[in-house]
Amino acid sequence: MTDSARTLTIVCGHCGTLNSAPCMGIFEAQVKFRNAKLIYIFVECLSCGCGNMLSAFKSNYNMRLSDLTYLDNQLNLCSQWPKPHEPDVPEDVPDNVRVVYTEAEQAYMAHIYSAAAERYRKSLQLAMKEKGATKGYLINQIDKLHDEGILPSGMKDIAHAIRIIGNKAAHDEPLSEEDAKKEAKDIREFAALFMTYLFTLPARIKIWQQEALPAQDALVPGATTHSGDTAK
Ligand SMILES: [Zn+2]
Repeated sequence: MTDSARTLTIVCGHCGTLNSAPCMGIFEAQVKFRNAKLIYIFVECLSCGCGNMLSAFKSNYNMRLSDLTYLDNQLNLCSQWPKPHEPDVPEDVPDNVRVVYTEAEQAYMAHIYSAAAERYRKSLQLAMKEKGATKGYLINQIDKLHDEGILPSGMKDIAHAIRIIGNKAAHDEPLSEEDAKKEAKDIREFAALFMTYLFTLPARIKIWQQEALPAQDALVPGATTHSGDTAK
């Protein structure tokens, strides 16, 4: 069996695409590490054509290199160079938002741009509910949270941008690869900013207040003083 006839399922460290990458070379280390010899595998991503190097142990120590025909089953992977990007989810988002946002990130990294845009929009919708939005169209939920002072004007505009791009991805004619990528890049950036504002910053400042202002809660806007008055 030639090397390129063997494949290994990877998430490419360059482009993030999950694919069954042809093996271009496989080598065994000369010296043992933890009582076994590491295997090094060089694969070529089917999506971007870039090389990825992986290290692994054989699942059966007695197998020879020529026995390795089904790499996904016969190797226990250790490391990969370059490492694939992890989904980048803002901190402190509620669990239901995190699940959908992670799906959006995974779709984006796999270059499934319209699916990514839809999931970013869905994560926005879940975030609106977390902040008290009741049923109705997303457009109205955003405006209502703005009217209630929960979303300042700038954040309302970002929310609408996420909604509009997500709607286009879900309902309009498919875009060209280039345009879909541009839209997905925009909605991804907007979603990250939005979630950071809505969840990460309040959680972060709360921690800071607890750590830095234990005896000065009167300095926190809106906090009550020890005498019960609202601080100015
Ligand atoms: Zn790739």
